[in-house]
Amino acid sequence: MKGCPMLYSFTISPKKLLTKFTTEIPSSQMAFSCANCGLCAHACPRDIDFGAIFTASKKNYAEDKKVLKKYGYGGVIFHQKSSFSKLFSTTKKFTTGEYTHMAFMPGCALSSYSPNLVHTVFNYLQSKCSGIGIIQQCCGTPTRVMGDMAQFKIYHSQLEADLDKMGATTVVTACENCFMSIKTYAPHIKIVSLYSLLAQIGLPESAKDRHKNTLKMALHDPCPTRYEKEIHKDVRTLLAQIGLPFEEFKQNREKTLCCGSGGMLELTNSALAHEQMRTRANQTECESIVSYCQSCAESMSHGGKNGVHLLDLIFNPTFEMKQKEQGTLKKWYNRFTSRQMISALKDNT
Ligand code: SF4
Ligand code: SF4
Repeated sequence: MKGCPMLYSFTISPKKLLTKFTTEIPSSQMAFSCANCGLCAHACPRDIDFGAIFTASKKNYAEDKKVLKKYGYGGVIFHQKSSFSKLFSTTKKFTTGEYTHMAFMPGCALSSYSPNLVHTVFNYLQSKCSGIGIIQQCCGTPTRVMGDMAQFKIYHSQLEADLDKMGATTVVTACENCFMSIKTYAPHIKIVSLYSLLAQIGLPESAKDRHKNTLKMALHDPCPTRYEKEIHKDVRTLLAQIGLPFEEFKQNREKTLCCGSGGMLELTNSALAHEQMRTRANQTECESIVSYCQSCAESMSHGGKNGVHLLDLIFNPTFEMKQKEQGTLKKWYNRFTSRQMISALKDNT
C-alpha cells in the first residue's frame, strides 16, 4: 500500500490489519487518520478497500458527537455553519442567454483564496456561455468526510434547493471535491469540470503560450477525481496551450497520492497531514507544483514547495508565480468579498 498516508503508522502489515478487522472494528484514531484518498482501493489487486472500512467506521463513530469533537469536529461545525450562512454564500441567476441552465460553482477554497480570480474566471465564462449563473456555496464535503451523514444530507439538500431555485441543471465546478460530491449525491444534475469546459471553449488568447519561459513545474492530480480520465486529459491540454513546461509525478492520474489535506486530516491528525504534505511535495525536484485544486496547491506550499493553481497561470497575468500566505481571517474576508461581488452583479434582462 505504498503511498497511503496512514496505514504504516498503525501496522507493519496491512494484511494482518485486515485479519484483525474480521474480529474487531478500527479504533477511532485509526479511522479518523484515513484521508479518504481512495488509493488503497485502486492499488489492491484483491479489491480490498481500507478506505471504505474506515469510512464506515467514521460514520459509526459520528453517532457519538463526543467522539467527533475529539477529532476537531467543532472546527468543522464552525466552518460549515459559516459556509452555508447568508454572509458567505449566495447565488446569481441570469435571465437571458443560451446557458441560463448552467451555474459556475467556484467552491470554498478558491473563493477564500482569491475573489478576483473567481470573478475573472466567471467573467470569461459569461463571455463564452451567455446567461451562465454563479453559486457561492459549499458542497458539504467537510461534514461528510467526518462521517456525520445526517448533517451532510441537510447541507446537501440546501445546495440542491439553491441550484433548483436558480434553474441550474448543469453545474461547472472548479473544485474536485465539489465535482465528486455533486456527481455522487445529485446524479440528476449534470456536472462539468471547469477544466474540461475551458478545454472545450478555448482559453483567452492572451493566455496562450504565456508560460513558455516559465520554469518547469510538477503537476499534481487531486485525489477525488482519480478516475476522471477526461479531466486529466483536459488539464494537460490546457497546460500545453499555455506553454508551461511540466513533469508528471511517478504516481499520477488514477495512481495519484493525497496531498495531505484529504479527509480533514489537518484537523483529525495534523502530524500525519503535514508529513504527507512534505512527502508528496518532495517527490519532485521541481520547486513549483501546479494543481487544479486550491487545497492541493496550499498543501504543496505547506509541504515546502511552491503550490500554484492552474487558474492563476491562465487568468492572472500579474501572478508572481507564488501564492501569498493568507491567514484564516483574511480567507473569510475574501469569501465575504467574493459573495459581495456576486450580489453586485446585474441581471442581463
Ligand atoms: S483511503 Fe487513502 S488514506 Fe485511507 S486507507 Fe486508503 S490509501 Fe490510506
Ligand atoms: S486537497 Fe487535493 S489531493 Fe488533497 S485530498 Fe483534497 S483533492 Fe485530494
